[in-house]
Amino acid sequence: MGEILHSVKLDIDKCIGCTDCIKRCPTEAIRVRNGKAHIMDERCIDCGMCIRVCRNHAKKAVTEPLDKINDYAYKVAIPAPTLYTQFRNIVNPNIVLTALKKLGFDEVFEVAKAAEIITAESKRLLDDKNMPKPVISSACPAIVRLIQIRFPSLIPNILPIISPKEAMARYAKEYLMGIGIKKEDIGVFFISPCAAKVTNSKQPQVIEESYVDGVISLKEIYLKLVPVIKTIDQPERLQMSNSEGIGWAHTGGEGNASGIENHIAVDGIENVIKILEKVENGKLDDVDFIECLACVGGCLGGPLAVENAFVSSNRMDKIKKFNKNNLYKRDIPLFDHPIDMYWTKPLKTKQVLKLDDDMEKAIEKLEHLEEIYNQLPKIDCGSCGAPTCRALAEDIVCENAHIEDCVFMLREKVRDMAEQMVTLSQKMPPSISKDS
Ligand code: SF4
Ligand code: SF4
Repeated sequence: MGEILHSVKLDIDKCIGCTDCIKRCPTEAIRVRNGKAHIMDERCIDCGMCIRVCRNHAKKAVTEPLDKINDYAYKVAIPAPTLYTQFRNIVNPNIVLTALKKLGFDEVFEVAKAAEIITAESKRLLDDKNMPKPVISSACPAIVRLIQIRFPSLIPNILPIISPKEAMARYAKEYLMGIGIKKEDIGVFFISPCAAKVTNSKQPQVIEESYVDGVISLKEIYLKLVPVIKTIDQPERLQMSNSEGIGWAHTGGEGNASGIENHIAVDGIENVIKILEKVENGKLDDVDFIECLACVGGCLGGPLAVENAFVSSNRMDKIKKFNKNNLYKRDIPLFDHPIDMYWTKPLKTKQVLKLDDDMEKAIEKLEHLEEIYNQLPKIDCGSCGAPTCRALAEDIVCENAHIEDCVFMLREKVRDMAEQMVTLSQKMPPSISKDS
């Protein structure tokens, strides 16, 4: 694979090199050097944690502007269910879907509906006795990347099914081509609360190509939707999903929809890492299914969402209740053309922590790394620009940092030099000595 594409980028002018982000990155992908943060592409999983923690807004997710839809004659929005929860006092998804059409989309198909179809397919796969237990959801692309990097032995446990977003993009294109719209005229745009799903659409790892033509940030579209929503009295009947599909946006939604009783739903990247460590150590093989979500609150807490995840969760309950009692559903033969819902490429391990391709040299470097690490103060202060003393030792061995980047080592070196200067000054020849 060539260059790794990422949606999470640094705005170098805004970065003040404060080092706040380096310790919160779950894959130790950030270093601060020369007063600016730097993201190591091969390690970044696009979890968006650094976007949340940076008080200077120096980290951002790069998405398509809304104008991009005009590159296509037939524009399709596929909104994530999180979008419905962003608006105060709106419980009817038809209002939000109608507003999207008023913004310029010709069609709107819900990712929540595809989530229900994926749920049914997942259930069939979970009954397959050949899958190692616990089966791990593939819904969160940041977690799939985390497993590739930190827990490669768990790759066989991941459910090899495409995401609801990808499934809906495929259904949309197949259906629209079936009614005579040319493939090249159709532009399918995902409305996303998530940075990892931007990357995953641009550079899918487990399928040949994504059917998603662009990803628009939920934050961007929210500002444009607010005034339009106020103008809608009679929404169109556009909704197809029920509360199970909408509930996927929240932690536990996928597990609850699938009806698997023996499951764990965990959110927040630090919590997920603890659970995956247990799985790796064989301590959770009595559990059938694990739903792991990088963001607290699930997709409701995505870095591109506008509303607080806990407020969104409250609204989600109201939306689900409304949808149980009010079935203003659209009837459309969108799913008559079957699609392939399975991965077509194997997910590969990513060895980002490799010290050298040559095994002998790698062992030598590892020994050197341990020697350096033992000299360091082991307090993981982060003032060197690396998240831990071990990470600095690794950077030094890989010739990306110097031991003097550690302020404690620098202080010792300065003290040694000062002592040497004093010793030398006492040895001055009488011809230049002031005392002579
Ligand atoms: S948190 Fe990271 S990206 Fe933000 S200003 Fe500090 S060093 Fe720069
Ligand atoms: S997006 Fe996540 S993995 Fe990537 S640099 Fe930021 S915190 Fe680290």
